[in-house]
Amino acid sequence: MSGTALVVGGGIAGLVAAHRLSAAGWDVTLAEATSVLGGAVSPRFLDVPSHGETGAPETQTLELDGGAESFAVRGAAVRALVEELGLGEKIVAPEPLGSWLHGPAGPVRAPRLGIVGIPGDLDAEDLAAALTPAGLERARQDAEAPMDRWAAALAAGEPVTVAQVVADRLGDEVLDRLVAPVVAGVHSADPAVVELARVAPGLLAAAVEHGGLAAGVAALRSTGTPGSLVAGLDGGMVRLTGRLVEALREDGATVLRGVRVAALSRVPATGGWWAQISDRDDEVVRGLDVDRVVLAVD
Ligand SMILES: Cc1cc2nc3c(=O)[nH]c(=O)nc-3n(C[C@H](O)[C@H](O)[C@H](O)COP(=O)(O)OP(=O)(O)OC[C@H]3O[C@@H](n4cnc5c(N)ncnc54)[C@H](O)[C@@H]3O)c2cc1C
Repeated sequence: MSGTALVVGGGIAGLVAAHRLSAAGWDVTLAEATSVLGGAVSPRFLDVPSHGETGAPETQTLELDGGAESFAVRGAAVRALVEELGLGEKIVAPEPLGSWLHGPAGPVRAPRLGIVGIPGDLDAEDLAAALTPAGLERARQDAEAPMDRWAAALAAGEPVTVAQVVADRLGDEVLDRLVAPVVAGVHSADPAVVELARVAPGLLAAAVEHGGLAAGVAALRSTGTPGSLVAGLDGGMVRLTGRLVEALREDGATVLRGVRVAALSRVPATGGWWAQISDRDDEVVRGLDVDRVVLAVD
């Protein structure tokens, strides 16, 4: 089946959706509210002082990833997309320097063995360095405290948030210092509203089986592929955005920037949609009739 489609939002999700629909024969219009495509995977430019060949002071402009700078390799979807777009040779492993977290207590090295910031080794030096002595002592209760409450929640299929289980098992300090920054950075969300099963599938079951949350993390990590959990692209993740934009051009899709889809309404006679498109001053510039709409907004 094909027809006309409007993709609202020119972030990475909108670009992928537009490319997929175009490839499947749809006549696609993509509308992006800002002047930049890629959303959280778009470049930022930073002028830094440098010295040119003559030694004279100059300004060099660095192109940096504005948001995502790597992709998870646990699922194969992004790697497959990167390869499909001909960027497979650009895939690089990150420098094995580990991650640092900045919080109210200052910068701390993120514990190396962890899942979404939840530590997997309660005796690790990096965990001790990241916490106060009282926070570490509280975290270590995870190894002793019964898991009954969480076994019951698992058996009942109850939704369990990251914050609930981390605060209970490892204490507020681990939640605030180690887990909240990772959940906020990776999932743009508060751990109090994110279900553990969404961001760490299988972790609650592993924790119940192994008698503690950290033990569950360690068990899950030991079954994973050794090596880094993420990969990057030489030149930055923005290469992916650039290649998708090129692909859309080759597909013949219409790409509109600086226009906001301000309203959508059903057209009962056709079963399609009418979209009201506004410019940056919120002046309505035109309407668009389409068969299908993909919402890929933030
Ligand atoms: C600082 C940071 C670091 C990150 N690091 C990583 C990482 O290392 N690895 C990883 O996998 N993920 C990372 N993420 C998350 C990842 O970048 C995002 O999940 C992903 O880019 C979201 O893409 P998206 O297209 O869904 O949304 P967005 O990128 O938010 O794009 C949505 C687009 O919709 C447009 N829009 C909104 N409303 C309208 C409208 N009415 N009409 C037209 N356009 C509209 C917006 O202008 C925007 O461009 C990071 C995110 C941030 C912010």
